Amino acid sequence: MSEILVTRSSMPELSEYVKEIEPLFESHWITNAGKKHEELTEKLKEYLGVPHLSLTVNGHMALELALQLLGLKKGGEVITTPFTFISTTHAIVRSGLKPVFADIREEDCTIDPDRIEEKITEDTVAIMPVHVYGNMCDVKRIDEIAKKHGLKVIYDAAHTFGVKLDYNGKWRGSGSFGDLSCFSFHATKVFNTIEGGAVCCGTEAQAERITNLRDFGIVDEETVNAISPNAKMNEFSACMGLCNLRHVDSEIEKRKAVNDAYRDALKDVPGIKLLKEKEDQKNNYAYFPIFVDRDEYGVSRDELFDILKKNGFGARKYFYPIVTDTDCYKDSFDSAETPVAERLAASVLTIPMYADLGADTAYKIAEVIKSHGN
Ligand SMILES: *Cc1c(COP(=O)(O)O)cnc(C)c1O
Repeated sequence: MSEILVTRSSMPELSEYVKEIEPLFESHWITNAGKKHEELTEKLKEYLGVPHLSLTVNGHMALELALQLLGLKKGGEVITTPFTFISTTHAIVRSGLKPVFADIREEDCTIDPDRIEEKITEDTVAIMPVHVYGNMCDVKRIDEIAKKHGLKVIYDAAHTFGVKLDYNGKWRGSGSFGDLSCFSFHATKVFNTIEGGAVCCGTEAQAERITNLRDFGIVDEETVNAISPNAKMNEFSACMGLCNLRHVDSEIEKRKAVNDAYRDALKDVPGIKLLKEKEDQKNNYAYFPIFVDRDEYGVSRDELFDILKKNGFGARKYFYPIVTDTDCYKDSFDSAETPVAERLAASVLTIPMYADLGADTAYKIAEVIKSHGN
């Protein structure tokens, strides 16, 4: 049986990509804010519904540049969650800041606003919440808390490309919240530029500063005004982005068909819990997590992972282990302080989800899950 992996990168037809990159072979301008890069910047602002945006080499550097832009006091505390991809925490630590972990909400795996205030101290400088699996955080409450305590908010929006939230009766792009929001355009995300990312900003001055910071802090040939890395997106990536952006709406529609098939087939399986679909969001179906209750289902999460694999279906324990259980953080933090994150990470499995998977294959995968339970 041919193996189905947990994800598969969206790609345009080869001919479409070739057409897109052709001008590069004439201009020989292949990086440093070339034409394709500038065109993608404009198109993404419009698509994401954000006022300003600066492209980056990947999502991780977007997070680091966002932290650098805000000029947070070294050693300051940043409240975040351990239920995320390791990048979020690494960005905080590599920026000379201290992560402080708040627990998540069972209903959508995002930071629990009720757990934020108790973590605030006089050293707190920012909150870095993570939108998870396509589910947006409680942005209203987070922003209220941040305002009340004078804290900056940087959203890790890597999972919410194209997601829009019904905000006081108007659709607002997921990148338009907080002081800054960061996207990843990695190959495995809903929209990809092979590797890539962006920092979404509220003001033009902020976007200009990111543009400066992503290029060693170089302002012009004789002026360097910040100590920062090279984090620019190249033209070939921008071309991939321009192609993929043309198809992203139909890719999301196809993901929805997979999502609907899974939900239909798995809705009443004892011991398999699904997250509720958010009604106040335009969703992107980035991932399909299931939560395995061993006692009720009769098989553990790890056993189900192996069963799926034997049947030719890749799954991923995502996010597992939580950040505070990884080798590089486990000695400094206690996962018992975030019991919900710890428990959900122990039971979660994301099952195959990508545009071309198709509803039929989703039903087959669901059948394997159903037939192995109690
Ligand atoms: C993918 C991802 C990142 C990192 O993005 P890269 O483009 O891989 O550097 C950060 N945070 C989350 C939640 C992610 O899923």
